[in-house]
Amino acid sequence: MASIGKSRVSVVKIAGAAAQLLWPASCGTCGALIENHVDDLCEKCWQDLRACCGADYCRRCGLTASRFAIYDGACTQCRDKQFNFDSIARAGIYTGVLSKAVLAFKHGRDEVAPILKTLAKAALASAGFENPPDQFVPVPLYWFRRVQRGFNQAHILARAICPQLNLIKCDLARTRNTPRQALLDAKDRFTNVRDAFAIRRGHSFKGKTICLVDDVKTTGSTLNECASLLKTAGAVNVYAVVIAVADPNFRDMRS
Ligand SMILES: [Zn+2]
Ligand SMILES: [Zn+2]
Repeated sequence: MASIGKSRVSVVKIAGAAAQLLWPASCGTCGALIENHVDDLCEKCWQDLRACCGADYCRRCGLTASRFAIYDGACTQCRDKQFNFDSIARAGIYTGVLSKAVLAFKHGRDEVAPILKTLAKAALASAGFENPPDQFVPVPLYWFRRVQRGFNQAHILARAICPQLNLIKCDLARTRNTPRQALLDAKDRFTNVRDAFAIRRGHSFKGKTICLVDDVKTTGSTLNECASLLKTAGAVNVYAVVIAVADPNFRDMRS
């Protein structure tokens, strides 16, 4: 048995080396060649990713904040802001490698998907939501954009954090094609998504604790609009899980 095990390991090693020779693996975000065929990112990008995801954050707005800077559930950056969702969990800040990976994912680059799925699961696991979500609702794309892209990245992330498919609800729909929030100034984002969503006819979220899922939170206008609708449809709590939260001081969210 031991010799069979050894020979199988050798075959895998040889196959891996041959694959590396024929199809050299490249980093999912910077394109640098990487030595190990099973790695998704180069060492430098792993380090950058750890920096993007390392800081503690405010559970109300998702922006980076030390736990000592949070008073009465809010940080100094969100104290005067209104949110319709009750709490947010994030993996990191939308900058550097993390923003590149999210954009690559949106453009259908499958090699970064495992990393982002793992980050989404980690964000949910450490969220500390007061109640466990009953259902997960991906933030929808307008149908035309969904067909154009071929997938909704929020739905893929929802499936990663909730393996029970019957708990993923797609009864929140986007009713018009809105320009990407990241392309707008903060003051236009609120009007851009106002009345841009609707609950499908006959569906109720009565008594449910809902977890919205999206790739990025910019100002929170989209999550606010979705949470407001879900609460109108009876949801008792609405939380959100995102991969990254855009810091208003960073401008690289526009690419
Ligand atoms: Zn890299
Ligand atoms: Zn905050």
